[in-house]
Amino acid sequence: MDETRTPAPAEDSPAPVAYGWCSWHDGYAGGVRLIQVHEQGSGAGGGVFACGPCRETHKLVPFADQPL
Ligand SMILES: [Zn+2]
Repeated sequence: MDETRTPAPAEDSPAPVAYGWCSWHDGYAGGVRLIQVHEQGSGAGGGVFACGPCRETHKLVPFADQPL
């Protein structure tokens, strides 16, 4: 039995980049931000995320940056 295993190299990521689904261009992208929270009656509430380029194109303001 060959149990040779190389430990996964620790990835050095100085700036954590949120990787997720961009609802604007319908695809996965890095650096997505939560734009809007959709409250749902039951189950997990859905959030709408947008990547950087889409935020610029559509002038989207991240949820955390929106004035209350
Ligand atoms: Zn996008």
